[in-house]
Amino acid sequence: MADLMEKIISLCKRRGFIFQSSEIYGGLANTWDYGPYGVELKNNVKRTWWKAVVYQRDDIFGMDASILMHPKVWQASGHIKNFFDLKSDCKDCKKRFKTTDLKDKDKCPECGGQLTEARPFNLMFKTYQGPLEEEASLIYLRPETAQGMFVNFINILDTKHPKLPFGLAQIGKAFRNEITPGNFIFRTREFEQMEIEYFVSPDEASHYYEYWVEERFNWYVNLGIRKENLRKRPHHKDELAHYAVACTDIEYNFPFGWSELEGIANRTDFDLKQHAQLSGKDMRYFDETTKERFYPYIIEPSGGVDRSVLAFLVDAYSEQKVKDELRIVLRLHKDLAPVKVAVLPLLKNRSQIVEMAKRVAEDLKDSFITVYDDTAAIGKLYRRQDEIGTPFCVTVDVQSLEDKQVTVRFRDTMLQERIGMDRLKTYLEERLA
Ligand code: ATP
Repeated sequence: MADLMEKIISLCKRRGFIFQSSEIYGGLANTWDYGPYGVELKNNVKRTWWKAVVYQRDDIFGMDASILMHPKVWQASGHIKNFFDLKSDCKDCKKRFKTTDLKDKDKCPECGGQLTEARPFNLMFKTYQGPLEEEASLIYLRPETAQGMFVNFINILDTKHPKLPFGLAQIGKAFRNEITPGNFIFRTREFEQMEIEYFVSPDEASHYYEYWVEERFNWYVNLGIRKENLRKRPHHKDELAHYAVACTDIEYNFPFGWSELEGIANRTDFDLKQHAQLSGKDMRYFDETTKERFYPYIIEPSGGVDRSVLAFLVDAYSEQKVKDELRIVLRLHKDLAPVKVAVLPLLKNRSQIVEMAKRVAEDLKDSFITVYDDTAAIGKLYRRQDEIGTPFCVTVDVQSLEDKQVTVRFRDTMLQERIGMDRLKTYLEERLA
């Protein structure tokens, strides 16, 4: 199964999805750059999430807070005091390990040397604001997007006047100085999160917690992830974060084992109370009907963009033997596919065919992400689009010049259909809508 990760990393590089960062300098370990198709796939993941949680609902508002925040935010959130992993260092080979990953806490898993005692290691990246590198100007790169939403709670109440339950949604970068990053884009030090903070009255918190676990699980399923590769894992009491009374992870069966894609937590009123206390601001919600002022509870579905991208890639990857040849196909959901339609001339040395194919592509570009490609023979062009996950290929051939029809080829079945050029856009619209 580990082999599958190698195949996916290789496909990502070969086709321009994901590259090693700073590769010409030997690469920066565990840091990745999204290439032309990768950025489309990643943007599609974010877009479908935003559509599902913001546009298709009346009760969630989008926002985009800054990465740099007042240091007191991290004091209130508990990150300065509690955001630690335990690390153990090997006295011989000097390698560093996350203590909870170690089977034997005394012996180095790499060289067998003796390990130091476990020591706490804060995962926040520190930097300085302004020209002076001194304690007073110390700030942090946010380790989660969540706090940007909590600190804007009063602004949202004052501007949107929402009634409970309501939520805020945000997508953005987060930074964690992970002790052991790895598994490609699964665990990195710089990554993107998609987070919802859903404010509810305390007596409805359990109900909405269950509701969001289902909603978020179904989001992945509706985007094509096979149900047997997804599971919900409720946390045991002893693994809950300091702010949570309940948490369920949605896990995916990655080639390296079941691992967290997203966590849904009942954070209680911890965050609002903490920020109220440290800022001195009244952060309670006023209920117009009961005339009561209270702190809402928060249900937080918190997912990783990069981990989702990896899960979608792994789940979509398929190999098939076609006449002694290996056909690699990314069976991505149509909403996630980086390119929707590829227009390919069957013969690239016939100028009339090339011109017609270019015209067809131009005509589709307004409606769908469309590419035109004539840089290889048709078999190779199909294989290229299969590996990118393009749902439809349209070919223009000699016959097209006479009957004004093109051939539409379906990625998943390889079936082909002849369609009049005048009907092509509507035909594709019906299938891509
Ligand atoms: P883990 O246990 O894997 O370290 P976590 O429980 O600390 O994750 P959360 O704090 O719940 O993660 O963050 C919410 C989501 O952000 C995770 O479900 C994951 O998708 C994503 N995420 C967290 N840390 C990383 C990372 N280092 N690299 C990529 N994505 C991450």
